[in-house]
Amino acid sequence: MARKVTQLYLPSPHLNLVIVGSGSNKDQNTVRGKTPENLAQKLPNLVELYLHSNNIVVVPEAIGSLVKLQCLDLSDNALEIVCPEIGRLRALRHLRLANNQLQFLPPEVGDLKELQTLDISTNRLLTLPERLHMCLSLQYLTVDRNRLWYVPRHLCQLPSLNELSMAGNRLAFLPLDLGRSRELQYVYVDNNIHLKGLPSYLYNKVIGCSGCGAPIQVSEVKLLSFSSGQRTVFLPAEVKAIGTEHDHVLPLQELAMRSLYHTYHSLLKDLNFLSPISLPRSLLELLHCPLGHCHRCSEPMFTIVYPKLFPLRETPMAGLHQWRTTVSFVAYCCSTQCLQTFDLLS
Ligand SMILES: [Zn+2]
Repeated sequence: MARKVTQLYLPSPHLNLVIVGSGSNKDQNTVRGKTPENLAQKLPNLVELYLHSNNIVVVPEAIGSLVKLQCLDLSDNALEIVCPEIGRLRALRHLRLANNQLQFLPPEVGDLKELQTLDISTNRLLTLPERLHMCLSLQYLTVDRNRLWYVPRHLCQLPSLNELSMAGNRLAFLPLDLGRSRELQYVYVDNNIHLKGLPSYLYNKVIGCSGCGAPIQVSEVKLLSFSSGQRTVFLPAEVKAIGTEHDHVLPLQELAMRSLYHTYHSLLKDLNFLSPISLPRSLLELLHCPLGHCHRCSEPMFTIVYPKLFPLRETPMAGLHQWRTTVSFVAYCCSTQCLQTFDLLS
């Protein structure tokens, strides 16, 4: 009787293409030759597959047949595309794709409900997979050295995320709620030169932000920004208005959204009861995932924020960072009153 193969290490520099599942011999659980041909059919019980440090360009669709796979390491290859069938690996816990040529990942990554570790550092990603926030088991997300300019605010809803590393990207702002989750304890955003503001939720967490906030040309970045004294921070594109200490009146749409949110939360407990016809899709999506929550009172915010800056250099944390950054913490508040009463250091 053939021995069940559960681990396969092929980190040799000889592989150019992984061919999975095109053969017919279903009984054989061994790999012959230099290339792991027909992996899915020959190794149906495979739990760990290590193919790092090769020259693999394509991972074929049949990878989706390795349904027991828990660990897949394709780091240090030449991958340009990851096929959507990766979403069928429902048992996958650790996915390593670092140091490839990836420009995007398929949304099906969001189907990986058991995924705990995702390492996609040193690629060419402009954005993260649009359904990544559905990976509810995700604990460690590493996206260092890519071309990210934007982090979806839905990521703040990941309940298990403990460590988020996005050093060496092109980020100019972070989601308002980043760090609101108690689980998230480590956030590294070093070397994002346009990044000038960190959500105040990150205060007292372990953060890396060296090399952030470098002076830039005004014409270089066209983003909504907020200035206080000499300091300017960029705000997420979804922010429609900026409130001030003297502006007590909330826009009508903001009032309507807050009222709807509280009505449906208190009466129905579940926003899924809302008929899609009753609201435009964009507003419905905003109700499900508000722009952020007031850093003072946790009131959800949908269009307007009242920001307040606390330069890191003026906090007790300054010594830890040894003056290697010029970022400020930004408290995003829901009203003039919260703005006036919020104090990061108290
Ligand atoms: Zn508030």
